[in-house]
Amino acid sequence: MKLGYYSYTTHIEHDVGDIHPEHPMRIIAINHHLEETGLAADAYQGGCNHVAQADLLRAHSQGYIEQLLAMSPANGMILADPDTPMAVGSLNAAYQAAGCVVEALDDLMQDRIARAFCSVRPPGHHAQSNKSMGFCFLNNVAIAAKKAQQEYGLERIAIIDFDVHQGNGTIDILADDPAFLICSSFQHPSFPFTHWRNIYNNVINTPLDEGSSGLDMRRAVEAQWLHQLQDFKPQLTIVSAGFDAHEKDHMAELKWQAEDYAWFGAFLSDINKGCEENKILAVLEGGYNLEALASSAHDFIAGFKD
Ligand SMILES: [Zn+2]
Repeated sequence: MKLGYYSYTTHIEHDVGDIHPEHPMRIIAINHHLEETGLAADAYQGGCNHVAQADLLRAHSQGYIEQLLAMSPANGMILADPDTPMAVGSLNAAYQAAGCVVEALDDLMQDRIARAFCSVRPPGHHAQSNKSMGFCFLNNVAIAAKKAQQEYGLERIAIIDFDVHQGNGTIDILADDPAFLICSSFQHPSFPFTHWRNIYNNVINTPLDEGSSGLDMRRAVEAQWLHQLQDFKPQLTIVSAGFDAHEKDHMAELKWQAEDYAWFGAFLSDINKGCEENKILAVLEGGYNLEALASSAHDFIAGFKD
C-alpha cells in the first residue's frame, strides 16, 4: 500500500485575516507535525494544479462559477456569505485545492497509490452546487466523487464525513444518486442546521449530542454505518476529514481525542480491505485548534495507512 500526500504553498494567498479561524497556519501545522514524526516521509508527493472547468461543472452550476469569478476582488476582501470572506488570492487557492483532490483521485485510479490525504484549504463540504457557505467555495469532495462516477465509471462510491459540522453541500450535490452512499456524523443541533433528517435514500445522518465522546461516536458509527458500508462494497471511499470534533476545538462541543481519528482511519481501512477495490481519498475540511488538528490528522493518516 502506498500513501499519497498532497499539499501546496499557495494556499497562503487565501488569507482572510488572523481573526478568521480558517487561516494558513492550519496546513502549516499539519505539514510541520508530519515532518517531525516522519509519517509521510516516504509518501508519494502529488501535484496540485488548478481544477479543470469540466471537473468543476459536474458539481457546480456554470452560473455559480461565473459568479465566483465576477465577485473575486482585485484588492481587499468581500463576503461571499456571512462566514466566508473572499480575498484577492482566495479563488486561486480554491481552484488549486480542488485540483489537488482531482489529482489525488487520478493517482488512485491509476494505481499509483492506494490511500491519499489532501491537506488543502479552503475547505469544501458546505459549498452547494450554486452557493458558497461556511468557509467553502468549491466542494472538493463532490467534484472528485462526480469525476469518479462519470469519468472513471465507478458505480459505488462511499462518502464519509466526520467533520463536526454536517456536510450539507455534499448532500446538496450528491443526494438521491444510488452511486453514492453518504455517511455523515456531526454535532446536532449545530451549524448548518439543514439536511440532517434522513430524507434522502443514500444519506445516513448520525447526529451526536453536545458533549458526546469519541466512544459515543464509535458506538453510533458501528451501529449505523458498518453493515451498510460492508453491503455497499465501495469501489472508492472519499472522506471529508474535518478535525473540529476534537475536545480542544472550540468550533463545537464534542469531546473526541486524536486516538478517535486513528480509530476512524482504521475503521475505514478495514471496510475497504474487504472490498474488491481498496482506495481511500481523504480531504481536509475543518479543524481549528492547531495542536489538536495536527495530531488528529497525523493519527488518522496512521490509522488508514496500514
Ligand atoms: Zn467543521
